[in-house]
Amino acid sequence: MALISILCPCYNEAENLPLFWRTLSEALGDSQYEYEYIFVNDGSSDGTLEYLKRLASENARVRAIDLSRNFGKEAALSAAIDFAAGDAVIPIDADLQDPPELIPEMLRLWQEGFDVVEAQRSDRASDTFGKRLTAHFFYRFHNKISSPKLTENAGDFRLMSRRVVDVIKKLPESQRFMRGLFAWAGFKTTVVQYVRPPRPAGETKYNYKSMWRLALDAITSFSTLPLRLWSYIGAAISMTAFLGTLYIFVRTLVFGKDLPGYASTICLILFLGGVQLLGIGILGEYLGRTYMEVKHRPLYVVADIYGENEGGDKKK
Ligand code: UDP
Ligand code: MG
Repeated sequence: MALISILCPCYNEAENLPLFWRTLSEALGDSQYEYEYIFVNDGSSDGTLEYLKRLASENARVRAIDLSRNFGKEAALSAAIDFAAGDAVIPIDADLQDPPELIPEMLRLWQEGFDVVEAQRSDRASDTFGKRLTAHFFYRFHNKISSPKLTENAGDFRLMSRRVVDVIKKLPESQRFMRGLFAWAGFKTTVVQYVRPPRPAGETKYNYKSMWRLALDAITSFSTLPLRLWSYIGAAISMTAFLGTLYIFVRTLVFGKDLPGYASTICLILFLGGVQLLGIGILGEYLGRTYMEVKHRPLYVVADIYGENEGGDKKK
């Protein structure tokens, strides 16, 4: 019987977990598959860990990985992937915004031969207007300058076959935008649509600042265009400046001395200074990331493991 791993990163989800567990168990109740549930407690400060510990002790198919602090969703998901043994792997949010009822359909498509089944939000009405707008802009921009392209409005909720997961486990980078890495792996992909429901309890862990950080990680991980762009902008500005100089030179020769152009000079200096600082800033973004990357720090630290084979194969 095929084993399916359900991966669930949890950060302060104590309020949602009982309902989530019930919905998940019901959705997967009578199935031809065997399941393992890997919950990762990403440094929660509420009762998440206690709940997961109990779940793991009561249910042999549940494992709870307790990270030593909050490492962020991308790292928590990486941890879950490292522990997953399934023939297919499905990351899912604990807040019921990724409906477990979709999983049987994903599994059906997997049986049909797809390696990746992405769940795409056909309707983001449950998100705020600001989040929808920034998400739309992000996908447009990202897909314009990066490859591989991301499926718009598809989050981490998806099914991946073992060979896709094995590819992802081989990617050593520490600044991980999981959706991008999933897309990078490739393989035969299809999409199922769903309407994203609002959170039953608790609040989103992503504010505009953390979304901006994630978007920067995404773009710098998959595109070097922002870096290369400056040589073109620099070339265009130098060319314009050269033509301007030529024009002033010829005009001075023909018409004699001009009034001193104080204002225009200051404007040009400020403009060029700004352009240079911006260029250096973008260099800094990449350099900073290169610096973080060369440290080769582990992505996460596991404090404890509860459930099947407790304390077993700790990886990384
Ligand atoms: N999450 C996590 N670590 C974090 C932030 C979030 O493990 O630092 C988990 C969270 O518990 C949830 C999932 O990632 O299961 C998605 O988070 P959230 O619902 O806040 O994101 P949104 O749905 O608003 O994009
Ligand atoms: Mg959510």
